[in-house]
Amino acid sequence: MAIDRTAVIGFPVDHSLSPIIHNHWIKELGLDVKPYEKINVDPNKFEDRINNLKIEGYGGLNVTVPLKELAFNISDEISDVSKKLKSVNTLSLSSEKINGDNTDAVGFINSLDKKTIEENITNKKTLVLGAGGSARSIVYALNELGGQVRLFNRTTEKAAILLNDLSIKSDPVCKEELDDYANSSSFIVNTTSLGQKVRDHNDILNFENIETETYIYDLIYNPKRSSFLEQAEVKGLKVQNGLRMLIEQAAYSFQIWHEIKVDVSNELMSLLESV
Ligand code: NAP
Repeated sequence: MAIDRTAVIGFPVDHSLSPIIHNHWIKELGLDVKPYEKINVDPNKFEDRINNLKIEGYGGLNVTVPLKELAFNISDEISDVSKKLKSVNTLSLSSEKINGDNTDAVGFINSLDKKTIEENITNKKTLVLGAGGSARSIVYALNELGGQVRLFNRTTEKAAILLNDLSIKSDPVCKEELDDYANSSSFIVNTTSLGQKVRDHNDILNFENIETETYIYDLIYNPKRSSFLEQAEVKGLKVQNGLRMLIEQAAYSFQIWHEIKVDVSNELMSLLESV
């Protein structure tokens, strides 16, 4: 059955860019569905709110912080990726059941050029900074792409738990070996939230001796050029922010609900860059 009402839920959700993305495609394709909305959902009333939204006719919900684990728990059927990541960011609601999926790993993979995957990830040393919710998807994706993945986090125990959960056979990188490992890595991705605030300075890495061919990725997309990417750019390294991943993960949710594969156009990228 066609899905009419879709939305992103979070707490808070006011700054989400998802409505701009989904409504762009709904309009572009001329779909006869309601505009995509954003809805604040109190984590303490999660189950009741989801049941009410279902009754009100919502068939697709994107889920953002801090509700992804609750969404995982409420799902009757969970995709293989979500099971692995223990997190759900896309719910499909029907009268019979709730399906839970996670589109972050696919979104990250689809955000990368084929050339970058071949030259900087597959069979190459890759380094992930951070061990929060998003790091799970990125570690999973890099491993799927055949990268040798290592992980550094301020709180080392969390990195060890993440690697263990995903059955990745590597030890967390400790502070003392971080610069050496980074200097021999072909792909480095920041998944920490450090840099989200304009005045934040991400000083986790020393960029002094990073190889010139190393690809530097930051999941942060606002600000467009985080301090992490700025330091890399000063060294002349190739950089990418998280905007394309944001759009690609939305595209995969859109495909799950509406069964339409959408293009990520330059027009949409420019629209979001101007927000
Ligand atoms: P999270 O679960 O809260 O994890 C935050 C991570 O950042 C943890 O590893 C934490 O380390 C680390 N961290 C926070 N402050 C730090 C500091 N001052 N120094 C060093 N490490 C610090 O967050 P998340 O959901 O993974 O999201 C992380 C970022 O990715 C956010 O900016 C989010 O907007 C972005 N994101 C982007 C996309 C996209 O589509 N582009 C998707 C998801 C997330 P500890 O474990 O030691 O606390």
